[in-house]
Amino acid sequence: MPSGKLPPAAGQLQLNFCKTLTCPNFGSMDEQDYLVQRSNPARPTLVCRECGAFPPLLNNQQVHAELIAQRQLHADGLCACTNPACEHLGKPVLTYRHCYHAFGYSGDRQRYRCKGCQSTFVDRWSGINKKSELQQKLLAFLFTGHTVREICRRLSLNPKTFYDHLNQIAARCRQKLAAYDTRFLSDTSTGHLASVHAPLQPNSENGVQWLATGEAHSGYILLQDVNYHSYDHDHLTEHHDPYQDACRFMATTNAGQRSEPTPRPDGLLGRVDAKYREVFSRSNVEDPYTQPLHFIYPNRGTLIRPQYTTYAHYLNLKPFIDHWQHIVVFSPQEPYCARLVYPFSKPIFVTNG
Ligand SMILES: [Zn+2]
Ligand SMILES: [Zn+2]
Repeated sequence: MPSGKLPPAAGQLQLNFCKTLTCPNFGSMDEQDYLVQRSNPARPTLVCRECGAFPPLLNNQQVHAELIAQRQLHADGLCACTNPACEHLGKPVLTYRHCYHAFGYSGDRQRYRCKGCQSTFVDRWSGINKKSELQQKLLAFLFTGHTVREICRRLSLNPKTFYDHLNQIAARCRQKLAAYDTRFLSDTSTGHLASVHAPLQPNSENGVQWLATGEAHSGYILLQDVNYHSYDHDHLTEHHDPYQDACRFMATTNAGQRSEPTPRPDGLLGRVDAKYREVFSRSNVEDPYTQPLHFIYPNRGTLIRPQYTTYAHYLNLKPFIDHWQHIVVFSPQEPYCARLVYPFSKPIFVTNG
């Protein structure tokens, strides 16, 4: 069994380092600065030789894979390169003209070729939307509280066509939003960001967490992700071993028993203290699922260990705000959120909220 080795880097990405802000080894990727203990194979540990902190280990390849999966999802429906291996993945033609060549037409739709990987794709938004009138009616009915059945009857649609239209409308909104994102970011050079982290569907208790980062004053959401893939993966793992492939996929057997809800303590300090206790009761402070936690694993799809979702989320956020001079992030009181700012090399202030 290999010992004393950090999980290998993924390209430039090595996230296993001391995360104590005041420690001289903070951010150091030199293996000499650490001791990697693998006496318990289920729980390998990184110990900082300087300050003694033991940040949980991560599989860098898995963080990178999650980053690509998120980027593909964000780019879904956009007129952009969709090749996961390409540096231009998800960059919309609209705002990254220099990444693409115009490459003829397909019917009345513009075709482009990516300069990075030479793949070609069609701008599905460039032609006329022949369904515009129908889709506007559909939306109007939806917004005025009509049921799906009623809308289908009034517009003579079957339910499948209804949902196809809805997906098309969503994709069109996504395309418009990409333009707003770019305009918003190009107009700002400094800012306050706030992240929120909450169960996506609290009543269904399905273990899916939602992480969104927005501009703190306007509430404009820049990026949002969930620790869930809608498709099934093989090789689900019961315990997180950062030296194993596919270690970010959670096994369905992780769920704990339902426990009595503990009363919410009074006062801010009481709540902060209770959260610390909860965090330290985990065997991996960055993974809330390493304490017995009750949830019902979704029937379809795969849960991702939340630390992989969050690291990937912030790594994806980084290029958006690379031009910002100062960044302040208000983050939830969660180690796997607060630590995430490491991708940023600029002066950055983190406030746990
Ligand atoms: Zn240290
Ligand atoms: Zn490409």
